[in-house]
Amino acid sequence: MIKNITDTFIKNLPSDIILENTRRQVLGACYSYVSPQKTKKPELIHVAKVMAKELGIEEDLSTTTSFLNIVTGNELLKNTTPYAMCYGGHQFGNWAGQLGDGRAINLTEMTHNNKQWTLQLKGAGETPYSRSADGLAVLRSSIREYLCSEAMFHLGVPTTRALSLALTGDDVLRDVLYNGNQAYEKGAIVCRVSASFLRFGSYEIHTSRKDYNTLKTLVDYTITQHFPAIKTLDKSGYIAFFKAISHKTLEMIIHWQRVGFVHGVMNTDNMSVLGLTIDYGPYGWLEGFDYDWTPNTTDSQQKRYRFGNQPNIGLWNLLQLANALYPLIEDADSLEAILNDYNTQFHKQYLQMMKSKLGLTTINDKDAVLIKQLEANLHLSETDMTIFFRNLANYNKQLDTDNKDVLNVVNDAFYKPEEITGNVLKRWETWFNDYTNRLREEPLNASERKSAMNKVNPKYVLRNYMAQLAIEAADKGNYQLIDELYTLLLKPYEEQPEYEKWYAKRPEWARHKVGCSMLSCSS
Ligand code: AMP
Ligand code: MG
Repeated sequence: MIKNITDTFIKNLPSDIILENTRRQVLGACYSYVSPQKTKKPELIHVAKVMAKELGIEEDLSTTTSFLNIVTGNELLKNTTPYAMCYGGHQFGNWAGQLGDGRAINLTEMTHNNKQWTLQLKGAGETPYSRSADGLAVLRSSIREYLCSEAMFHLGVPTTRALSLALTGDDVLRDVLYNGNQAYEKGAIVCRVSASFLRFGSYEIHTSRKDYNTLKTLVDYTITQHFPAIKTLDKSGYIAFFKAISHKTLEMIIHWQRVGFVHGVMNTDNMSVLGLTIDYGPYGWLEGFDYDWTPNTTDSQQKRYRFGNQPNIGLWNLLQLANALYPLIEDADSLEAILNDYNTQFHKQYLQMMKSKLGLTTINDKDAVLIKQLEANLHLSETDMTIFFRNLANYNKQLDTDNKDVLNVVNDAFYKPEEITGNVLKRWETWFNDYTNRLREEPLNASERKSAMNKVNPKYVLRNYMAQLAIEAADKGNYQLIDELYTLLLKPYEEQPEYEKWYAKRPEWARHKVGCSMLSCSS
């Protein structure tokens, strides 16, 4: 199935010398060899054809028993030696020690069309890093990861990918809300795909152990494989490496803010060094625009990973990575300058991104204020982020100078339109008035502006309730909705009249429903 196996990771990096699959601290190594567990009755639910094609996997191959066996860990690809990666991490602000791939097993690394990919099974059984858990994944979280990673890719957000979603036929015991109600659920495996699954925590773990040799070997490897623009493996190269990661991380988070994605668990073990969205757990999509919103019930008190805090957490995480790389660099000023630049760049790029959402292309010193006021207004009454920005592209300043009811065009975005009265209405009218005046400075006509805005304001995102509906149907053995949502989200910026029903606010039943607005880390 896979032709060009490269396996640079295992060829270049030190492995755990112990081969037994027992839970332990793994020292002086970047990974442990481990094979996936056999499953009882594997069954393929869905294959991401776009991803398969990128890997050079022919369509008829993906329907074979051999493909099913490989993506569920029941058969190994020829000449491969699967492995789980060792990493640590800061979880919710505290150093958590060794974590590692507790239930993810890398099958192999390959190239196709000059691109390097690692194939990884999530939920394929115990590894030396499983700690007190079972190494398995359940269907609901697997559907969420599968659909969302591909949806993010098609939205243009840097992300790890997914090739397939399969049932294992094994039952998995979980306590969804961590409240003492355990129940068996269907086990599943997602075959994830990425250029690399290296995380900030992959470096932190070695520094925490003062194992600077392994740290250096890993950093040199990462630069050589994934940052080819950096030519020197010395202090200046390592500074450039950190700078590149800082840029990529910021770019990713700006995209999250643009589409309204809340990761939910931005621990440093869930931060890719390639600036890819990784580890889809209790993530969520903003429905009402709300800086304070987090889908993660485990974080509902502190709200560390709330929507509005994601850029700050990106910086906090980069600081941890800077500390991890410090022994190789020993130049705090250079690292600090990069961290300071993150803030400067954030303000610049956020402004640019928000301007693009508003269809503004020229420079005006007051744009930052216009955007601040818009954000304040969006918090006045529950306002659907996706619908608001998408509909805003239909706003026509010529038309609206005669028509007092400026809010018509975005009215559908309000969860309680009847609340848009009095002072709230006044503030919206003021904002639209300012926006109209601002648009007069723009060279684009209304239709040109609309087409530019529609390229950054998606029409369709994986709303929390949509994934939940797909999960409930799949639990009953019906996978049609998974396919429908996968297909819909291949073209999130395009009008798709046949799917118009998905361009709608969250239904009321989903407001407080588990799986829609409340998600735990249980997966
Ligand atoms: P996460 O919060 O999903 O990113 O996971 C944090 C850590 O817990 C990682 O090291 C995971 O590999 C590990 N982990 C999560 N769930 C399981 C599981 N069911 N079995 C083994 N390890 C797990
Ligand atoms: Mg993780």
